[in-house]
Amino acid sequence: MHQTTSAVADTICRTTELGVTITDAAVDAQDRTRIFCEVLDPDPRCPNCEIAGQARDKADRILTDTPAAGHPVLLHVAVPRFVCHTADCPRTIFRANIEHIAAPRAVITSRTTRWILQHIVEDKMSVAAVARNLGVAWKIVNRAAAEAARTLVYASPSHLGGVRHLGVDEHKWKHVRGHGESSWVTVLIDLTPVIDGTGPARLIDMIPGRSKSVLKTWMNDRDQAFRDRVKVVAMDGFTGYKTATAEELPTARIVMDPFHVVQLAGEKLDRCRTRIQQATCGHRGRKGDPLYKIRRILHTRTDLLTDKQKALLFTSLTSHDGHVAVEIVHQVYLQIIAAYEHRQRREGKKLMWRVIKRIQKGLPPGLEELAQLGRTLWNRRKEILAYFDVGVSNGPVEAINGRLEHLRGIAQGFRNLDHYILRSLLHSGQLADRINAL
Ligand SMILES: [Zn+2]
Repeated sequence: MHQTTSAVADTICRTTELGVTITDAAVDAQDRTRIFCEVLDPDPRCPNCEIAGQARDKADRILTDTPAAGHPVLLHVAVPRFVCHTADCPRTIFRANIEHIAAPRAVITSRTTRWILQHIVEDKMSVAAVARNLGVAWKIVNRAAAEAARTLVYASPSHLGGVRHLGVDEHKWKHVRGHGESSWVTVLIDLTPVIDGTGPARLIDMIPGRSKSVLKTWMNDRDQAFRDRVKVVAMDGFTGYKTATAEELPTARIVMDPFHVVQLAGEKLDRCRTRIQQATCGHRGRKGDPLYKIRRILHTRTDLLTDKQKALLFTSLTSHDGHVAVEIVHQVYLQIIAAYEHRQRREGKKLMWRVIKRIQKGLPPGLEELAQLGRTLWNRRKEILAYFDVGVSNGPVEAINGRLEHLRGIAQGFRNLDHYILRSLLHSGQLADRINAL
C-alpha cells in the first residue's frame, strides 16, 4: 500500500525526476505543503577518497520546490550521511551528493530556479508574484533569478562575442547604506557598437564591489578568445582597474575615457569656483552671486552658448579680479573638450599634449585645483593620449553622451542591485530559448 501511495504521489509531484521518492506529506500552519522524501540510489562514495563509506544516518535538508495545487511546497530531503573508514582520508563524515536536486547551499531546488525564470521571462510575471507563489522572500527569488539569468546570458555566444572595445566603470550604488566598498559596483560595457557607429553602448555585466581584484577575477573568468579579442579597455582614473587590466589582458591598450577626463576637469573647475566664491563673497553660492549665476554655463561648450549666456559669462568673470583663477581653469576645461572634439585626431592629440604639459607643474600660486588636475593628467598621460590613437569613427562626443546616458540609466529607480542586474541582463540576451537548458 505504502509503495503504491508513494508512486502516485511521485507521479503527481514529479519527484522521480529529482531522484527522490515521497515518504510523507503534511500541510503546515502557514498553509504550505511539506513533502518528506528520501534520495533514490544515493551515492555512497566519499568526496575525498572516492571509496564507499558506511551508512550512518540521515540529515534533513529543506528546499523550496515548485508549487503543488497552487500552494507553496517545502521539500524535506532526508540526505544520507556516511562515515568514511579509509585510513589516510581526512574526511570522517560526509553527506550524499544531491547537486542534481539543488546547488550547494541553495535554498530552492534547481527546477524551481528554472520555474522562476520561465515565469519572469516568458510569462512576464513580477518577482513579487513569483515569490508569493513559492512562499519565499522576494530577495530569494530575485537573487536566484539574477544568478541564473547571468549564467544564461553568458552562455549566449552573442553576449561577449563581438567585444573589441571594453568599457570599465565604477558606479556608486547610492541606495545602498553605508560608504564602504559594498556601495560600489563595477560596470562592464561593450563600447564596440559606439566605436563602429552601429549602435549604443551595451551593458555586459555589473559586479558588486570596486577593486583591482573584482575586475581581475572577472577578466580571469573569461575564455582566451575573449581576452584575445579585446583590443582596447576604456576606463576612468581608478588605478586598480588599470593594474587589473595590465595583468589580465596584457595585449589590450588601456585608454582613459574622455568622459572621465572631462568630468575630472569639471570637478576642479567647480572646486575652484566655490573657493573663489567663498573668498570674494565670504559665503557659499547664493542666487545673485556672479560666480553662482554662471555655474552651469561654465560647463557648457562655448559654441553651445547663446549670446546672452556668453555676455553673462564675460561680465561675471571680469566683475572681480579674483575671478581670474576661475577663468584660467575654465579655459583649460574648454581646451580639453576642444582637443576631444577636434575633427582630426592627430591634431586633437597635439592639443591635449600641450594642455597636459602646460599645467603639469610650475603654475603660479592661487591655482591649486589646476595644479592637482595637472599632476593627475600627467600621471595618466599615456592612457589619456592613447585615446587619440584608437579607432573612433563616430566622434568622441557620441562616446561621451552614450556613456552619460548609460550611467544615468543605471542610477534610475533601482533600489536593489540584483534586481537591476536581473532586469538589465534579461534585455541583453536571447534568454527565453535558453531557460530550458538550465
Ligand atoms: Zn574518504
